[in-house]
Amino acid sequence: ATQRIGFLGLGHMGAPMAANLVRAGHEVLAYDPVPAAREQAAENGATVVDSAAAAAAGRDLVITMLPNGKLVLDVYAELLPAADPGTLFIDCSTIDVADAKSAAVLAIGAGHRALDAPVSGGVGGATAGTLTFMVGGGAADFAAALPVLEVMGAKVVHCGGAGVGQAAKICNNMLLGISMVGLSEALVLGEKLGLSHQSFFDVVSTASGQSWALTSYCPVPGPVPASPANNDYQPGFATALMSKDLGLAANALRENSVDGRLGLLAAEIYARFNQTDAGRDFSAIVTDIRSRSDQ
Ligand code: NAD
Repeated sequence: ATQRIGFLGLGHMGAPMAANLVRAGHEVLAYDPVPAAREQAAENGATVVDSAAAAAAGRDLVITMLPNGKLVLDVYAELLPAADPGTLFIDCSTIDVADAKSAAVLAIGAGHRALDAPVSGGVGGATAGTLTFMVGGGAADFAAALPVLEVMGAKVVHCGGAGVGQAAKICNNMLLGISMVGLSEALVLGEKLGLSHQSFFDVVSTASGQSWALTSYCPVPGPVPASPANNDYQPGFATALMSKDLGLAANALRENSVDGRLGLLAAEIYARFNQTDAGRDFSAIVTDIRSRSDQ
């Protein structure tokens, strides 16, 4: 059935997500403070409004796709009083688990319903409508959101209660960051010892050191032709985003007293790399490890 949707945040991800909702026949009111983003949304068939509150009034569902948790909470303060009672708020931004829980408490306290639904799949997945959604919140709200999320995504997983969607996202990306650093250290050690990248790949890809980072996203050119390493480390998944997600994971490790030394170290390694290489793919960390090993 056609849903009346408010969509806030028409950036790299939000613009194509909102466009897919329009294409599927939903009625989308869109807002972003950046004029160029509003013009693009209008071209894509959304009805553009001139304030956040205007995008929330009279909606069944309000979707946010914003840069950080502080903004989500600020925008919720404008949206919640403007929305009809019982509106379903779905935040798709990647934010701190603690902020996601606060957002849900605020929405529910204002008489609404709330889900956190961060995504993986990047701009390519947003454009193709093949994102993965990791959802936190109640079962009935998940069921209500599912048909709309399936327009924007290929896989939608209900992970648990409020904030648990964000938890799934940062746990996955923390592990990816750690495994990319570990793989890169092993590759550079192999180089020093005379092990070619192809021989490394031929052995490790079917041995106990195997990982997605190696077999699908190999950080050196050659063994996996489609990996960003073969394209001068153009993202892909930019270092800036990996560094952001590792920062969120580090916050959660600390807040929950987890002995997460590798997670914290990966966050530190990527924060430093991000100062010089924010726009390169995160797998370019291997080049940093290599150059620091030659000193
Ligand atoms: P982006 O910066 O391109 O877009 C964010 C948009 O929010 C901008 O257009 C900005 O103007 C808008 N905005 C700011 N304040 C607003 C307000 N008050 N009301 C409405 N809109 C407002 O960021 P993005 O790459 O689209 O990422 C969005 C979120 O998705 C982030 O949390 C990011 O971590 C997450 N994410 C991004 C990717 C990716 O590949 N880009 C992948 C997965 C998850």
